[in-house]
Amino acid sequence: MPVLPLSGETFDVTVPVVVIGAGACGLTAALMVADAGVEVLVLERDAVPQGSTALSSGMIPACETRIQAAAGVSDSIEIMTADILSKAHGETDEDMVRTIVAESGPTIDWLVDQHAIELTLVEGFLYPNHRELRMHAPVSRTGADLIGNFSQAAETAGIDIMTEAQVVDLYADDHGMIGGLRLLRPDGTNEKLGCKALILACNGFGGNPEMLARLIPEMTDANYFGHMGNQGEAITWGEELGAATADLGAYQGHGSVAHPHGILISWALMMRGGIQVNREGKRFSNEHLGYSEQGRIVTAQPGSIAWNIFDQRIYDGGLDFEDFRQAIKSDAIRRADTLDDLVAITDLPKDDLLATMADIAALAAGQGKDEFGRDFTTMPGLEAPYYAVKVTGSLFHTQGGLKVNDQAQVMREDGRVLPNLFAGGGAARGVSGPSDWGYLSGNGLLTAVTLGRMAGRAAARLCNGDA
Ligand SMILES: Cc1cc2nc3c(=O)[nH]c(=O)nc-3n(C[C@H](O)[C@H](O)[C@H](O)COP(=O)(O)OP(=O)(O)OC[C@H]3O[C@@H](n4cnc5c(N)ncnc54)[C@H](O)[C@@H]3O)c2cc1C
Repeated sequence: MPVLPLSGETFDVTVPVVVIGAGACGLTAALMVADAGVEVLVLERDAVPQGSTALSSGMIPACETRIQAAAGVSDSIEIMTADILSKAHGETDEDMVRTIVAESGPTIDWLVDQHAIELTLVEGFLYPNHRELRMHAPVSRTGADLIGNFSQAAETAGIDIMTEAQVVDLYADDHGMIGGLRLLRPDGTNEKLGCKALILACNGFGGNPEMLARLIPEMTDANYFGHMGNQGEAITWGEELGAATADLGAYQGHGSVAHPHGILISWALMMRGGIQVNREGKRFSNEHLGYSEQGRIVTAQPGSIAWNIFDQRIYDGGLDFEDFRQAIKSDAIRRADTLDDLVAITDLPKDDLLATMADIAALAAGQGKDEFGRDFTTMPGLEAPYYAVKVTGSLFHTQGGLKVNDQAQVMREDGRVLPNLFAGGGAARGVSGPSDWGYLSGNGLLTAVTLGRMAGRAAARLCNGDA
């Protein structure tokens, strides 16, 4: 995946703006470029645009949106910025967080109003550390519907998406100005294409074992639940061009993937009162701190598994999620009418599990303090019938990447920008700090759509000669 010298190269076809990757970031960027009246081409390695976006729950956090206002939610740029910074322990770029958050509301309004992306406010519970209802998602809560909507919007806007087009090399001059690229077709043939501006929307390196071993060794053997096309080219190309990178050890994990079924079990279950116990029938963490760090914590439990335990009220809430309905169909979720049945269906040590259930009942009744610091008094205690699902921890996507400025321009180590290179989504540095504990739910799609829009706007401006 090298960056090759531009000098002497000619391109039969030159497109003003080329976007690499047709996930949420790439398609948002392309919609923005098209809105500005500039020709854009999206190159996608897969036969159908999907990416990690299609695997997601489609939850995009944003504040001061019209959808929030209609639901009477009073959120603000200040509150959302503070929530992201507090989850990342302040170990991220505060100015970029503020810029991204300020862009979030207008981005959602624009996607919904101008491009018919169907989003609704997710109500009924708050994800860890979010102080307001601000998740905007398709009714099904699936990324499959989200990417389907984006693809439809791109088609309506007349945007060309060239599929089965894997970009392998970039051509750049001595100043880091990108002049074109080479793409590989499934039959082994190559094509070259010129461009005036390039947007990297090809996500991070979760699917690349070599990069994982080097940059996030603790997750080398983890179950990777993201898209295999996330091979880290943006970082490789960027580094060759002298771009700055940051937080390459950062990632989003998840502590609740049904095992062995491989179905995401929403963390909404935990936020509504569910608990996780290990093979010893004991709780091992504060489930309300965040699902990302819980990926590592669950993986460290005996056998790398945990059981999510919840009740009918929580089960009924879970039915809002397509993944949860799939888990029911796959028999991943088991029902128990009594505590004895719960012991039987999970095969967990009886005394320990019953002691755990008694402990959380007391905590819900306001008696005592949880040893892990969770407040159980905000939700009703668990009542029969109970439900249980065996889960494991996973790596969902990487959060480190190319440093970009407030126009999504890729920056060099010395703070100057590369002339015509932009990045967003998982290709760019996220807002989650240096590790897995800084990921506030939705940081992934947040930076995909906001940086995508900023990149599209700036790339179009460059081509229009306004930059
Ligand atoms: C199970 C799961 C659930 C998640 N749920 C949520 C959620 O609810 N909310 C949230 O905010 N985040 C969520 N995330 C994270 C979120 O999915 C990602 O952060 C987001 O989709 C990144 O978008 P993207 O456009 O940067 O990348 P992608 O959606 O991965 O798109 C990148 C595209 O680039 C293509 N590509 C890569 N390399 C090349 C190349 N060389 N040439 C051509 N094409 C290339 C890929 O094939 C891919 O289609 C979840 C992730 C997972 C795995």
